[in-house]
Amino acid sequence: MPTTKSRPLKRSARKRQDTSVSPAFWTGRSSLGLRILQVPAFSKLPWLIHAFSTAPGGISHLENEKVLNLGFTGWDTRENVRENRRRFQTAAGAPDLPLITLKQFHSDVIHIFDSNPTDPCRGDASITNRPGLLLAIQTADCVPILLVDPKKRAIAAIHAGWRGTLARIAAKTIGKMQMHFGTNPRELLAAIGPSIGPCCYEVGTEVATQFLSQFPDAPGYFDEFRTGDEPNPIQWLNMMPPGHQPPPKGVLLDLRKANRSQLLAAGLRPRNIHTIDLCTACRPDLLFSYRKQGPLSGRLMSVIAIRR
Ligand SMILES: [Zn+2]
Repeated sequence: MPTTKSRPLKRSARKRQDTSVSPAFWTGRSSLGLRILQVPAFSKLPWLIHAFSTAPGGISHLENEKVLNLGFTGWDTRENVRENRRRFQTAAGAPDLPLITLKQFHSDVIHIFDSNPTDPCRGDASITNRPGLLLAIQTADCVPILLVDPKKRAIAAIHAGWRGTLARIAAKTIGKMQMHFGTNPRELLAAIGPSIGPCCYEVGTEVATQFLSQFPDAPGYFDEFRTGDEPNPIQWLNMMPPGHQPPPKGVLLDLRKANRSQLLAAGLRPRNIHTIDLCTACRPDLLFSYRKQGPLSGRLMSVIAIRR
């Protein structure tokens, strides 16, 4: 159950950073110098393909490193990105499947694919129950979520930044799967991929206010950003601030927790939600972070497909 009380503020937790990788999330696929992240519960399904990319390897050059940039960014060539995508698909075990990317725009627009579209669609989630379509989400801090319905053999790929999370894109995607595939949320498996962690994701209090107005457990998504004599931001968000106290500058948002809460509210079992606890901003050696690297950031990719 999602917690409904606000977390106590802990100085020690503020600077906690991800420094290790859970070995359970690593595969041995490194023949091309790439490392992909996979969730064991997904890997157990023989008809399913899935992978989360990481930054090392690839042929793009970024700050004297060779990286696996999988998005068409201003600093990289299209040829490099296409070759990186080819290598990533091979590492993921899907070299021949059509890659179905979206023109993501932080919306709650969800597409159902029965075939490979001629042009990328504008949207932030895709679902299918057709074999042979590689659904892809691109991120560089936002939360990628992959869903699989093992009973009905249906899948989803979701892009959830703070706007998409606020718009309940994960919950709406599950609703679409229920409607179109007869999915029972209690059967669904979810993988929450690498994203910016609560250690690094500062947002303005106006963002927190929007979450608090929509989600009863939203105080549990936030933590204090500054310490010292400032008013407690969570208290400030829960009460009208006294006139003489300035509002705090920012708070730390746990986007993974917000999305996990949304999945639980939609009916997923806690044990079926698998979170890769890696922060994009803490791990420039392994991941891409727009917050950390700005316009020179690469793009990570999360993919899922039903084998054909
Ligand atoms: Zn971090």
